[in-house]
Amino acid sequence: MLEIRNLTKSFGRGATSVTALSEVTFPIAEGEFFTLLGPSGCGKTTLLRLIAGFEPPSGGQLVLDGRDIARLPPNKRPVNTVFQNYALFPHMTVAENVGFALGAQGRPRSEIAATVERMLALVQLGHLAHRKSGELSGGQQQRVALARALAPKPRILLLDEPLSALDMKLRKDMQVELKRLQQETGLTFIFVTHDQEEALTMSDRIAVMNGGRIQQIATPRELYDQPANRFVASFIGESNFLDATCARGRLVLSQAAGPLPVSHPDGPVTLMVRPEHVVLGSARGGGLTLAARVERLVYFGTDTHVHLLLADGARMVARVQNALRGGAPCAEDDVIEVTLPTDALRLLPKEAG
Ligand code: ATP
Repeated sequence: MLEIRNLTKSFGRGATSVTALSEVTFPIAEGEFFTLLGPSGCGKTTLLRLIAGFEPPSGGQLVLDGRDIARLPPNKRPVNTVFQNYALFPHMTVAENVGFALGAQGRPRSEIAATVERMLALVQLGHLAHRKSGELSGGQQQRVALARALAPKPRILLLDEPLSALDMKLRKDMQVELKRLQQETGLTFIFVTHDQEEALTMSDRIAVMNGGRIQQIATPRELYDQPANRFVASFIGESNFLDATCARGRLVLSQAAGPLPVSHPDGPVTLMVRPEHVVLGSARGGGLTLAARVERLVYFGTDTHVHLLLADGARMVARVQNALRGGAPCAEDDVIEVTLPTDALRLLPKEAG
C-alpha cells in the first residue's frame, strides 16, 4: 500500500548538518499494525513527519497506491496523526473536537453528527460527548484524540508515542484497546515508540531503527528469535554475547567447542543466547558446556537471575524459573556447569569495537 523508497532527511547545512534519516526503503501493507521502534534520536519521529507531510524529504519517494505523495501538503494526503500531547481544543466539547475536521471540510451537519456518534462508540466514550475535553482524564483525552483522528476516514493513521503520557496500568489497557480499534477498523496504523514491550505486544511488524537507518524489519517473534545484529538483540529483550569463531563446521569458544547451529562461513562471530535458554547443568539435546562461577543471585518472583563469570573473564546471565517449592537453584560462589543448548545459539556478525 505504501512504499517508502530511499527516503533521506537532513537538517541544516555544511558542517552542522544532521542526517536524521538515511536511505530508508521498505513497504507497508494495507491493514498492517506497523511500528517504528528505536532509541531517542534514531529518526522515527522524522520518518513519521515525512509520511504526514509536516516536513519535505531531502530525497526519495513515498509511493501510496502507486502515486508519489512525498511533495503533497499534509491536507492532501489520506493520512492523519495522533500526537503524544493529544492536541485537543480544551474549551470544545468531546463531540465538537471529534467533528472538527469534518466541519472544516464543510460536511453536512447530519453526516457529522452520525460520524461523531460512531467514532465515540468505537472508543467507548458516547456518554461523555457533551463534556468539555479539558475536563477529562488523560486516558479519556487519548480516546478523544483517537476518535478525532479517525473521523475523517484516513487510509493511514500515524501515532507518535500516543501512550507515553499515561500511567503504567492505563497504558497497558490502551495497548489492548488500540489493537482492538485497529482490527475493527481494518486501518493501516504506523506507530512510533521507544518501548520494546509496547511494540512487541501490538505490532504485526516492527522496524527497528538506529542512527537514521533501519536495522531490521520483522514480526515480533522473528525479531526476538532471529535478531539480525547485536543492536537488535540488545534492544529487544535481554541477551548474552560471547566471542566465538566458526572453523570448519565447528563453533569454537575459549573453553568449549561444538557443532554449528546453522551453516556459517569460517571466521569470528558474536554468539548470542537469551538468559532464559541457558541451562544450569547439562541439557538433554546437548550444546556447549562451560564452567562458571556464580557471582550473584537476583530473585525476581517468577524467576531468579543467575549472574555467571566464565573462566576467560566473560560474564553471562541465566534466568531460571522458580519452582513452587525449594530454594535457589545454586548458591553464590558455587562453581557450576552451564549448557548453552545448540538450538538456542544465534550467530551474529562480529562488529568492530
Ligand atoms: P525521540 O524518541 O527522542 O523523539 P526520534 O527517534 O523520534 O527521537 P527524531 O526526532 O526523528 O528522533 O530525530 C532524529 C535526529 O534528527 C536527531 O539527531 C535530532 O536531533 C535531529 N533533528 C530532528 N528534527 C530536527 C530539526 N528540526 N532540526 C535539526 N535537527 C533535527
